[in-house]
Amino acid sequence: MQTEFTAAQLRDPDIAESNGILRTCVHCGFCTATCPTFQLLGDELDSPRGRIYLIKDMLESGRPATEEVVRHVDRCLSCLSCMTTCPSGVNYMHLVDHARSYIEDTYTRPAPERALRWLLTRILPHPTRFRLALAGAALARPFAGLIPGEGLLSQRLRAMLRLAPRDLPPPGRLELPQVHKAQGTRRGRVALLTGCAQQVLSPSINEATIRLLTRMGIEVVITRAQGCCGALAHHMGQHDPAMAMARANIAAWGAEMDGAGLDAIVINASGCGTTVKDYGFMFRNEPGDWPAQAARVAGLARDITEVLESFGYAPSAAPPGLTVAYHSACSLQHGQKITTLPKTLLSRAGFTVREPVEGHLCCGSAGTYNILQPEIAGQLRVRKLGHLNRTGADLIAAGNIGCLTQLAGDALPVAHTVELLDWMAGGPKPATLP
Ligand code: SF4
Ligand code: SF4
Repeated sequence: MQTEFTAAQLRDPDIAESNGILRTCVHCGFCTATCPTFQLLGDELDSPRGRIYLIKDMLESGRPATEEVVRHVDRCLSCLSCMTTCPSGVNYMHLVDHARSYIEDTYTRPAPERALRWLLTRILPHPTRFRLALAGAALARPFAGLIPGEGLLSQRLRAMLRLAPRDLPPPGRLELPQVHKAQGTRRGRVALLTGCAQQVLSPSINEATIRLLTRMGIEVVITRAQGCCGALAHHMGQHDPAMAMARANIAAWGAEMDGAGLDAIVINASGCGTTVKDYGFMFRNEPGDWPAQAARVAGLARDITEVLESFGYAPSAAPPGLTVAYHSACSLQHGQKITTLPKTLLSRAGFTVREPVEGHLCCGSAGTYNILQPEIAGQLRVRKLGHLNRTGADLIAAGNIGCLTQLAGDALPVAHTVELLDWMAGGPKPATLP
């Protein structure tokens, strides 16, 4: 693709980066076939190729983002299915991240929209605030049907109440800052990202991770200064809050690497894993040794399934005689290119694994997308649940809390992959299973 940035524009490292990405696109349109929003809406401007053109024009013009560009970029799930399909290696993730940040800097959203986005980034990354918000949502849940109208605000309120769990589990004790000693001879030492929303919605995921790793002889450290990975703010274009959260994690894990040492930084929410693995890129233009520190942390980041495989996961329980419909989270399959490993581990644990058709398509969760774009997210959810149900499986497994929350409630029971693996290696049966 031809671009026409001026020499002055190209001195901005973010523009220079996006220019390089834009020039790799040959506008073949292959990506449109696997883009969820293009499949649903049929509008070229809601396809990867259309968005790439919009972003190119916006950045080249140097003018504030228009309402049209914002509408179509906002509808993008950042599912990265287009990156898997693209034969030219277009890094759409970095391009759309830049576009979102540019929009945030140059476009003034309507006041209710600004307020909602402000609230989401001030509440979701902080477990105590999120817990309080969910407690309030639980009280309001019975009245969701009384919310009038089909406007966007009404849809968003209903979506938030639907996503709030009926019963919130008590806070987990294992995921507090501490060191969990390995059982038997120590074979490794890892840090665990305990996350933000996940530890409130489903502390059993971190508990299963800690139990399973320590049982395998791996010491698990939970550092005090770590927090949200920054993905929620990053995907809303809020550069500074995202960088502040990432900086805290890099400092915390860097100190641990320099101290007792780490073999890996374990992440069991694949949306977070995709972001932490990208810290090196996010910090590439930061001063001092931040780029090197960030790259060092990113280089040690692993999805839990990668760590389990490298340390030789082996089940100890008899096969449960259950069939699992494996839902491949976009951040895992498209963002991290981890496609077969979770299924291999589940099969090794004794489950029969089935995959739904259209496995490449997003379930509609996508961070805060199911709140901000409830209509499209709802359509994708119904479509995904239909395919998962038709597998005839007993339950759904996935490796990302966002997907588990999105898919829970209306069909099969859901469980995180690591909860199932822990169960088959001596842990308790996941509480979500009958
Ligand atoms: S598949 Fe890749 S090269 Fe082709 S239009 Fe899409 S992004 Fe561009
Ligand atoms: S990230 Fe997903 S929704 Fe966005 S353009 Fe690519 S395929 Fe479409």
